Amino acid sequence: MVERAESESRKLLGRLRDTMANQAEGQERLDQITHLTADSMGTEVCSIYLFRDDETLELCATQGLKSESVHQTRMKLGEGLVGRVARMGKIINTADAPSSKGFRYMPETGEEIYSSFLGVPIQRLGEKLGVLVVQSKTAREFSADEVYALEVVAMVLAEMTELGAFVGEGAALRARHTQPVLIRAITGQEGTAEGHVWLHEPRVVVTNLVGDDPDTERRRLTDAVENLRVSVDQLLAVASGDTEQVQVLEAYRMFANSKGWLRRMEENIDRGLSAEAAVEKEQSDVRARMLQATDAYLRERLQDLDDLSNRLLRILTGQGTQTGAELPDNPILVARNIGPGELLEYGRQLRGIVLEEGSVGSHAAIVARALAIPLVINAKRIQNEALNGDHVMVDGDQGIVHLRPDDTVVSAFRDKMAMQAKAQERYASIRDTPADTLCGKTIRLDMNAGLMADLPSLENSGAEGVGLFRTELQFLVRSQMPKRNELAALYARVLDAAKGKRVVFRTLDIGSDKVLPYMKAQDEPNPALGWRAIRVGLDKPGVMRMQLQALLRAANGRPLSIMFPFVAQYEEYTAARAEVDKAVAREKKLGHTLPETLEIGAMLETPSLAFACNKFYEEVEFLSIGGNDLKQFFFAADRENERVRRRYDTLNVSFLSFLEDIVNRCATTGTPLSFCGEDAGRPVEALCLAAIGLRSLSMRPASVGPVKHLLRRCNLDDVRKVIHDARNAGDQSVRPAVMEYLRGLN
Ligand code: PEP
Ligand code: MG
Repeated sequence: MVERAESESRKLLGRLRDTMANQAEGQERLDQITHLTADSMGTEVCSIYLFRDDETLELCATQGLKSESVHQTRMKLGEGLVGRVARMGKIINTADAPSSKGFRYMPETGEEIYSSFLGVPIQRLGEKLGVLVVQSKTAREFSADEVYALEVVAMVLAEMTELGAFVGEGAALRARHTQPVLIRAITGQEGTAEGHVWLHEPRVVVTNLVGDDPDTERRRLTDAVENLRVSVDQLLAVASGDTEQVQVLEAYRMFANSKGWLRRMEENIDRGLSAEAAVEKEQSDVRARMLQATDAYLRERLQDLDDLSNRLLRILTGQGTQTGAELPDNPILVARNIGPGELLEYGRQLRGIVLEEGSVGSHAAIVARALAIPLVINAKRIQNEALNGDHVMVDGDQGIVHLRPDDTVVSAFRDKMAMQAKAQERYASIRDTPADTLCGKTIRLDMNAGLMADLPSLENSGAEGVGLFRTELQFLVRSQMPKRNELAALYARVLDAAKGKRVVFRTLDIGSDKVLPYMKAQDEPNPALGWRAIRVGLDKPGVMRMQLQALLRAANGRPLSIMFPFVAQYEEYTAARAEVDKAVAREKKLGHTLPETLEIGAMLETPSLAFACNKFYEEVEFLSIGGNDLKQFFFAADRENERVRRRYDTLNVSFLSFLEDIVNRCATTGTPLSFCGEDAGRPVEALCLAAIGLRSLSMRPASVGPVKHLLRRCNLDDVRKVIHDARNAGDQSVRPAVMEYLRGLN
């Protein structure tokens, strides 16, 4: 069977290669391909349909259908058999097309007389480009070998499309990667940036698809696979201990040694493909299976196999990630996903980041925020659309990417950036003035931090101190548990950089969305409500003790503030406090210098703590509301879930009333209170928090200016009245009323 197919598809491929080699124009090339495919496969019809836009396919060349229908016949995705092939990304092979599900008769083509239909998707690495069809009058299903041959032609077409071989007249024949593309995605970090694409992993381009000598190609393939096996073994040898990475590498090793995988690729070579085309054909099949897979585990494994194919392609083509290309001016990083360590290596030289996947709480997003680099996540297709060096504009505020923008977009975007720059100048001019309101209240504005990279912002932003130092970031960006001395040195550097300003160190807040790569992942049904933060610290106190020691040593006679995350009841606070007391006693015994002052606080992130006993409020030395978590539990709406995370407004009267009650409780017991969730950095939200009595807010550094600017223009008594009136009027959220008030300001 394979032998017959070998000669068939090999012959076909040989003729295709000649077509590719000649200097014909785009349309002429397409015509030649339809002609020779119909001829080789013995069918009356061969047609090529390409996407005109995301939703529409256009007949671009045909042998057998009426020539006047070329560039006239169009169909929507999902419409007719061709549209169905495109939508499903699957082959349709039928002996009786007119009575098949979804058949649509196109009179202008004259196709009604053809009974058999075989349509295969033209796609490259999961990106849909069009559909290739053969039809014949005789009612018969096409054999597996014929299907294979047509798939190979489709693959060649896809590669040629990528290489711009069909550029010519007609909208569907426009050069790829030249048109403006707008991608609507999700905000990962606010801010705008203009620059040039830098692909973290540039795609592999396969130019020689046809193999002359199967023996040579087989040898090339087996050598490359051997090379791959060795490199995976080497990676495994150095990865020991890093469990998640080891698991992935184990899966790589299993696939790299899989006989089935190699056999399928060898069969592709026997049918006429070059070694790299054989790998890519297998990769396309894997991607098709991935699209169908509903089981998450299976999808992940197929993803591993896909990654492995990429590695193999890089070995075969010699195209490494190090392509020798220079980082362009104002680089905007484009990647499917990226680890926090890799992102830190790029550092502040990046102007923006666009990720095809990612999530708001991912480690990469955390690092992007620390570096204040605009980030857009979930940017579908960006990897396929973008080429190194492409002009790109990233709107982190709206979660939009403009790739190769046209002049109108460029000028509108630049206007927006200029306005933002003006606003920045305004903020800079009030940097050293306090956030005094018109009614004479002063609001303390601190910043949130987590990496050394954050600390320069302490000076630039005008923040009074660090209200929340998320210590887990140092744990998250490493591949191994940091040592006590390393941590002590790092915390000491943080205190040095703060130059006497207050820094509140929050102890390790892991679990939920923050999973340490080197700690065993807990398989919990609901991690946000699971074993996290102080719960882990108290149950397995080793790491917490080590961290407390590191903090005490870092302070080395200076004032120290420590805050425990996710305290849900009084006893958790007392137990954690007891650990601090023990650590202090130990340090004293060892003769180390103790902090000049030591204040121990807690984060209020669960509604339960708002109702804790008075004793707790009297004992705790300060409280900070973690609004991100508190809000998710108050509304029972997962902060990581795009579907619900924006569903409830922070300015909802129920939530504001709840926060006001906490403020009042703290006022009664004299407990210092601050707010350090993301909402503190949103000017309107910050204003309302100040109006209900909060006098200390901690936010990302870039927010200090905008928040201060607004606070200085407002009278909190007026805003409080607006809030209370809205509540009394039965409004669901006070936002409309507050916005109305703000519009009335001069
Ligand atoms: C919060 O929950 O509001 C908070 C500041 O902590 P994190 O976002 O790190 O959970
Ligand atoms: Mg929290």
